[in-house]
This record gives sequence, structure tokens and C-alpha cells, in this order.
Amino acid sequence: MLLLGVTVILQSASIREAVATSAPVYSWVIFCAGIPLGWRFKRRQLVVALVVLFAAERAIAYFPAVGPTAPGGRIVYAAIALLLPLDLAAIAWLSERTLSTWAGRLVEGAILIQPLAVALLLRPELSLAAQSLQHELAPAGLRVTRIPAVALLAFLVAITLTVLRFVVRRTVIQASLAWALLAALLGLHGDGAASTVYLATGGLVLIVSLIETSHRMAFSDELTGLPSRRALTDALMRLPELYTIAMIDIDHFKKLNDEFGHSAGDQVLRLIGSTLTRTEGGGRPFRYGGEEFAVLFPGKPAEEALPYLEDLRQTIEASVFIIRGRDRPKVRPEKPVRSTGGRRRLAITVSIGVAEPEETGADPDDVIRAADQALYHAKHTGRNRVCVSE
Ligand code: GH3
Ligand code: MG
Ligand code: MG
Repeated sequence: MLLLGVTVILQSASIREAVATSAPVYSWVIFCAGIPLGWRFKRRQLVVALVVLFAAERAIAYFPAVGPTAPGGRIVYAAIALLLPLDLAAIAWLSERTLSTWAGRLVEGAILIQPLAVALLLRPELSLAAQSLQHELAPAGLRVTRIPAVALLAFLVAITLTVLRFVVRRTVIQASLAWALLAALLGLHGDGAASTVYLATGGLVLIVSLIETSHRMAFSDELTGLPSRRALTDALMRLPELYTIAMIDIDHFKKLNDEFGHSAGDQVLRLIGSTLTRTEGGGRPFRYGGEEFAVLFPGKPAEEALPYLEDLRQTIEASVFIIRGRDRPKVRPEKPVRSTGGRRRLAITVSIGVAEPEETGADPDDVIRAADQALYHAKHTGRNRVCVSE
């Protein structure tokens, strides 16, 4: 959306003119804020990507391909057009962990010596290589882009690699690296201020992904994908006068963990989490902690929320959860083999405690306590039931 916005804005000639003087300031602000921010959040991958984008943007701006520095500027531009996509693709393939290994150091080293390689290209002895880098795909009359042929090929390879990486590792940061690559392509295609604006916007996309990732880490639960307890605390501050809170606890979960292992327990938590996202009646689920969940019904009294909670309890009771036996073959056999045992259908149930504020302006923490009391009651009267606070 940022890139689309920039493209739309740059269509206007008057804006392009106005942007010409302020574009470098935009670039400095983005990168000088983004690089320390990435550092603070220990996202080395993003720091390296931002440094590479910034260096490319500054180099293209300092050595324009028109005017007195034109021949040198064109060589610098062609070299950057080739190196930038490859660098971004390499960064996308490095994970935060591999960045601190020798492979990561190697890539970082290779990126660091690139200015030297570009400077070497400016020497007359290497003019043949410099020329071949600048070779364009189409003849001058049919020109669609100023990006040279080898660089276009590099972009094609880099985009494929980065998208592939995203398919393997679907994170916000991986996606942002693919978008930054597109920004780089647009930046190299455009010239002057447009080039600066696109490359800096690529940096902005990376910064936004950093903020988005941090927000997700704080407000969503990694295992189930549900909003976390912190998100619940946040939601409790924005409640209308009338609301209902339900506390949900899995029955005999400890036994399940002990019998089938912690990872089976985790799978059950995920299953319950995904069932809770389908809560009807406007109920918003949260993972409260451990094997406890909360569902919030803003604007609904307990009486109205009850049928939905009862539905939830029944859905979980009826859901089929199969633990595969220990004799499950590691490699898929050619013909289906009947399991000889150990394959078990688990009966999972939950107990639910429900409460609403006793008077207007009651502390939501008190309502949670009351729901907990009701849950305790549900546990002690046989489990697998919904109990409302007295
Ligand atoms: P009750 O029916 O009374 O609720 O019995 P219970 O065994 O479910 O209750 P208890 O609170 O004693 O057990 C909770 C267990 O949940 C203990 C802990 O090992 C397990 N647990 C908490 N968080 C996780 C988790 O993230 N993954 C897994 N696999 N287990 C967890
Ligand atoms: Mg518990
Ligand atoms: Mg429990």
C-alpha cells in the first residue's frame, strides 16, 4: 500500500517537482531512524537490508547519470542495479540465526566490499566489464526501462528467491523483504527524486514490518495464534458498560500431557484455539495462559452469551482429536498399513465459568475473579459444563 501510494503521488508533475528537494531528507530520516531501531530490536537481517538500501540510494544520488559525472554515474548505477537485488535476496535467505554464523559473516563481508568493487569498475582497465553491465535489453527507440539487461535478470532471480523464501517462512519480515525488493526495482527504474523516494519507501516498509512484528509478539499468542493475555488487558480497558467474560479451562489436561507428551498437549491447545475463533454471538477469544482461555462478549449480558458458550462446550466435546500411535511409520509406506494400536481418539472437554459486572462501573478484574469462581464451581460439580457466577 505504501508503494502504491508513492506511485500515485509521483504521477502528479507538481508533486514530483516539490518532492525533488525534500526527497533526500525523507531518505535520511527513514534510514537514520530505521537502522538504530533495527539494532535496538536485535533484527540484524533488517539492519543489513536497511544499510544496503541506504547505501544504494545515497550512491545513486551522489553520482547522477546526467551532468558532469555522467559516465561514472552510469557505471555506479549499473553496478548497483546488479548488486542490490542479489544482496536483498541473500539477506532474505539468511535467518536471524545464520546471520551470526560464518555463512552470515561471509554474506556481510561480501556486501561490505561491494563499494570497493564498484570503485574498481570505474578504472579504465575495467571499462569493458563496466560496459557490458550497462548493456540494455531493448534498442534506444523501444526502451521501457533504464535498468540494464543483466540487472533485470538479477531482479528476476532475486524476486523468485525472495518469494520462495517467503513461502517457506511466512513471517511479516520475510514479506517485507520481498516488498523492499519491489521498491528497489521501482527505485532503479525511476530516476532522480523518484528513485530516492522509492528506495526510502522500501526502507519504510521494513520499519513498518519491524513494528508489526513487535506488535504481534506482544499481543498475539505464538502457539494458538489467538490474542494474548496482554491483548485481553487492553480490551478490558475499552469495554462498554455491559459485557460478559467467560473463563475456559481444559479438563484433565495434565493427564493428557503426561500420557501423550507435551507436543500432543500443544496440538490440543491449537485445536481448542481454532475452535474458539469460531465463537458466535460476537465473542472474542483470548489465550489467558497455560491451558486457560477467556472469551469476551462486549455489550452482551451473561444470559445472552450463555447459549453461545454452551455451543462452544458441545463443539469441543464432539470434536475428534486423534493421537497417532507410536508405531506410525516414519516413511510413507506404498500400501496403506492398518495401525496395530496406540492410535487413540481423545475425548477433550472444557469447563467454563461465566460472569458479568454486578453493577455499572465494576472493575473488570473483579468480573474475571467471579468468572474464575464459577469455573471452580464447574470443575467441582463434574467438569464439562458451563456455570454462571451467582
Ligand atoms: P482440571 O481438569 O482440574 O483443570 O485439571 P488439569 O490437569 O487440566 O489442571 P492443571 O491446572 O493442574 O493442569 C494444567 C496443566 O497444563 C499443567 C501444565 O503442564 C499444562 N500446560 C500449561 N501450559 C501448557 C502449554 O503451553 N503446553 C502444554 N502442552 N501444556 C501446558
Ligand atoms: Mg488450569
Ligand atoms: Mg485444566
